[in-house]
Amino acid sequence: KIAVVGSINLDLVVPVPHHPVPGETVLGGELAEHPGGKGANQAVAAARLGAQVAMVGRVGDDEAGSVLRAALQREGVDVRWVLAEPGFRTGRALIAVDRASGENSIIVSPGANTALAPEHCAASGTVLRDADVTLLQQEIPAATVEAAARLAGGTVLLNPAPARSTMTRESLRDLLDMVDILVPNRAELAAMVGHELHDLHAVADAARTLRGPSAVVVTLGADGALLCEEGAVLLVPALAVTPVDTTAAGDAYCGALACAVAEGLPLHEAVRNANATAALATTRPGAQPSLPTRAEVEKLLGH
Ligand code: ADP
Repeated sequence: KIAVVGSINLDLVVPVPHHPVPGETVLGGELAEHPGGKGANQAVAAARLGAQVAMVGRVGDDEAGSVLRAALQREGVDVRWVLAEPGFRTGRALIAVDRASGENSIIVSPGANTALAPEHCAASGTVLRDADVTLLQQEIPAATVEAAARLAGGTVLLNPAPARSTMTRESLRDLLDMVDILVPNRAELAAMVGHELHDLHAVADAARTLRGPSAVVVTLGADGALLCEEGAVLLVPALAVTPVDTTAAGDAYCGALACAVAEGLPLHEAVRNANATAALATTRPGAQPSLPTRAEVEKLLGH
């Protein structure tokens, strides 16, 4: 069983020939709307792989909110603790995707996600206490993330995304003490240690300086992921694919890692599964629409 305490957004996606710089207007292609939000994406990623997933989150009291809640439910996610917050709009993400490289840039308007409060975690019954894995990100208030980690009965997996400059290992110390597996991308790890990470040695050294989590898994885009556990470092290469849209690669990764850990797989195998899940997600457009099924992942891994 997996519990996700996190964000739920409506993604508004526009393909662009290149990303705009300040002051520039770029003429994009056709607008697509998809369910998104790091929390919801990771919940759906795990559910498509066959995990039993419950989500704690907030949408607005608008049409987008009911559409997103229904979408989660259709994926088999338990949405009893996904409620509409009166007076708030549903969170939205404005996403530009570069047509050639698949690279995205994103603006999030968090809306109702900001109303997800620590007491909502406590009010979600035994869902966090009973979960094998509680999966957390940082698109909701920091106090709520901490409350969720405190209430979690099983393994706590934190994806410290999105990166912010205020997100140092010092400011996150209380939270990190409650985290078992930390899953940052390179930029998030750099923000945490306060300097750029130019090569894999720098990444491994930075991961080793983090106190609290028993394992750190750094995602490295097309280079795969670095697993740092008990002083040992293992680079698990990415699968060779042709990416068309990297939106939600990290979310696919985290959902898959949580699923594998909940099933009791050792971390080095969990990391392989997560690499395959995320690789598939980059080959298709959109966030939730791009998340693969278990059969697709097993086929890619040659099972
Ligand atoms: P984020 O999407 O959070 O920035 P990354 O870019 O590190 O995170 O990607 C997450 C994971 O997605 C990587 O660890 C890798 O497994 C997979 N991935 C990302 N880009 C590619 C790619 N071009 N080819 C294959 N796998 C990829």
